Amino acid sequence: MDINEAQISAIVENVIKKINCTPISTERQMGVFPTMAEALAAVEKAYQQYRSYSIEQREKMIAAIRKRTLEEAENLAKIGVSETGMGRVSDKIIKHQLVANKTPGTEDLHPIVKTGDCGMTLVEMAPFGVIGSITPSTNPSETVICNSIGMIAAGNGVVFNPHPNAKLTANYAVDLVNRAILEAGGPENLVVSVEKPTMDSSNEMMKSPIVRMLVATGGPGVVKALLSSGKKAIGAGAGNPPVIVDDTADVEKAGADIVAGASFDNNLPCIAEKECFAFDNIADRLIQSMLKSGAYLIQGEQIDRLLDIALINKDGKYVINKKWVGKDAGKFLKELGIDADPRLIICETPENHPFVSTEMMMPILPIVRVSSIDEAIQMAVKAEHGNRHSAHIHSKNIDHLTRFARAIETTIFVKNAPSYAGIGAGGEGHTTFTIAGPTGEGLTSARSFTRQRRCVMVDGLHII
Ligand code: NAD
Repeated sequence: MDINEAQISAIVENVIKKINCTPISTERQMGVFPTMAEALAAVEKAYQQYRSYSIEQREKMIAAIRKRTLEEAENLAKIGVSETGMGRVSDKIIKHQLVANKTPGTEDLHPIVKTGDCGMTLVEMAPFGVIGSITPSTNPSETVICNSIGMIAAGNGVVFNPHPNAKLTANYAVDLVNRAILEAGGPENLVVSVEKPTMDSSNEMMKSPIVRMLVATGGPGVVKALLSSGKKAIGAGAGNPPVIVDDTADVEKAGADIVAGASFDNNLPCIAEKECFAFDNIADRLIQSMLKSGAYLIQGEQIDRLLDIALINKDGKYVINKKWVGKDAGKFLKELGIDADPRLIICETPENHPFVSTEMMMPILPIVRVSSIDEAIQMAVKAEHGNRHSAHIHSKNIDHLTRFARAIETTIFVKNAPSYAGIGAGGEGHTTFTIAGPTGEGLTSARSFTRQRRCVMVDGLHII
């Protein structure tokens, strides 16, 4: 059946009404423009005004964004799930609360001072200007709000080109951020976007002289495109995080933690456990613990049938079947004729199974038995594909913990906790939804969106 864009929008609005969240307004949203040219002109004007704002004023705006995000966390979560058809409302609420509470603001900016015989030199973290940000479908509003807080804290303006499949959700967040900024006395259109983002609007944004820095959050395609732009770029790319469980681990806790992490928002987060390597002598106990914690075990030909649903064989190479990304585990099981609604599906597979090597972003976790830490590390490093994104381990053996961390070289490495501890949920440290492995900024925050400026005073202001 052919279906046009207007019909798709009508269906989405209908669904949103049915699930009882605020319908997306048909009147123009704040900061959302019909064309990229208009968006760019508006944000440039806003940035020029914003340059005269104090740090205190920046913080007032950020506080208002935090407040509105908390008030609208449930609404944002429902809109995201209904538009994209991916993820879980309850988990998306937690993601928005994390963004509101744990994304650093201006306190993240630290000037450096050097004094000596010659006087004093000050290095300050200055804004880039207008930043162009490309956002994913998997965390649409989370990324818009998180990046807005960090980029504004650093004194920048932002233009977003959101994922086309999540544009309503992302633009709802752009509107929310603008309303909060205005309410706190900030300029109009400091954060902008386009009504219908496309590859053309993305290219226009990347090439515009108004845009001084680019930030891409998504898969390998977008990171590569940005790094070829000739501009300063931050690339936050794909992952395929392995988790190892050895025979010194608290196996009960490991099973519960892995189910919690791998099922979080139906495995959409790039940091979530996506394949498990378990020591043979604890694997049965681990599986029992996972079953007690909300997982469902499938076996034999059920695994083959699930493979045919979740992945597509393209000339001998498996790629994800996009229509199944982020769906509930119960929906997969229904296709297998099983009536159950667990948080996660688990299955035992060999190391070379496509479930192990593919970043599926579905609540399906393959478990591979290993006989030693050497074997586990070697398989985990291979499954991570050199993304150097995230990896996790459950162990009390310091040697195992250290050797795995050294071998896999990931930006995030979580020990004895669910993967989301790595972005501040139940773990120390701030939250971000833009984890920049390829370009090295790590877990981005306000300081990632600054340029250093040195100011030198000779023979003065040196007081000892
Ligand atoms: P995606 O790569 O399909 O899309 C991301 C964004 O890039 C979208 O806005 C899309 O329109 C745009 N895009 C894609 N190819 C492009 C190109 N060649 N030029 C310009 N723009 C392009 O990603 P997705 O499916 O929405 O999200 C899932 C992927 O993102 C996973 O691989 C996941 O690991 C990764 N991700 C990484 C992080 C991180 O912080 N490192 C965070 C979230 C998601």
